[in-house]
Amino acid sequence: MEVLDRITGLRDRLDAERRQGRSIGFVPTMGYLHAGHASLIERAAASDDVVVATVFVNPLQFGAGEDLDAYPRDPEGDAALAEAAGCDLLVMPRVEEMYPGPVLTSVAVAELASTMEGASRPAHFAGVCTVVAKLFNLVGPDRAYFGEKDYQQLAIIRRMAADLSFPVEVVGCPTVREPDGLARSSRNVYLSPEERAAAPVLHRALCEGVAAVLSGESDAARVRATVEDVIRSEPLGELDYVEVADPATLAPLEKCGQGDRIFGAVRFGRARLIDNVAIDPATLAGTGGTP
Ligand code: AMP
Repeated sequence: MEVLDRITGLRDRLDAERRQGRSIGFVPTMGYLHAGHASLIERAAASDDVVVATVFVNPLQFGAGEDLDAYPRDPEGDAALAEAAGCDLLVMPRVEEMYPGPVLTSVAVAELASTMEGASRPAHFAGVCTVVAKLFNLVGPDRAYFGEKDYQQLAIIRRMAADLSFPVEVVGCPTVREPDGLARSSRNVYLSPEERAAAPVLHRALCEGVAAVLSGESDAARVRATVEDVIRSEPLGELDYVEVADPATLAPLEKCGQGDRIFGAVRFGRARLIDNVAIDPATLAGTGGTP
């Protein structure tokens, strides 16, 4: 694996691969890589000839008072994990090279970006879309891999790529979890041992919501209340939101059924955790829930 600390020359470097007819798979990340990121790189390595991953903690997607300065970093660990997962080119650019001056241009996806994470973090998705659009232009991937862990982000990037005709296929990959159900996240490192023990309540609560729908409940308000009650039963967790939404449009639903999705965000001390699940019997497999 080759490691680059700059974006200058990246496009030319990859044009050489493209001229030889090799496909480019792309995995953008903010680093502090874990098994979730590895699954995206492995998926890219299985489908594409050249796998490019980026580690860039993008200031544009952090709001005032968020964890930009505290965001965990481990460039050496990231390089080892990326290489083991099958990455060919790891790019870790500096903020000053990515944004040499004030960023006057921004990519915004309306509606999909206004609910859930967008309501809690107003400038977040414009920051994500702007950096992903820039990275798509720098890398020129055939396919780009995003985790369902950040399902709203995945849906928004899909929509951005379609609306702006980026010649890239956006591939969604399943959420990688700890054995107790907690979704793997770089931010899990913020959890104290007590908070870590409590944090699986989010996934457990979402699964209770799925079980309710699969047993016949179709009123989304009642499903939300079921999920919220489970989260509130955990005193260390502070509920941010629970939503039942359409998987493509992300529109909040009044009536729900199989195929829709349940989303939640909970704060545990310094860590704000998000998760989501499909309303599908497969979601409950291995959780002890009854479909
Ligand atoms: P991040 O570094 O948190 O910005 O994430 C980079 C990419 O990895 C995004 O597409 C995330 O959705 C994906 N990702 C993060 N955590 C997981 C996970 N537990 N399972 C699958 N994908 C993940």
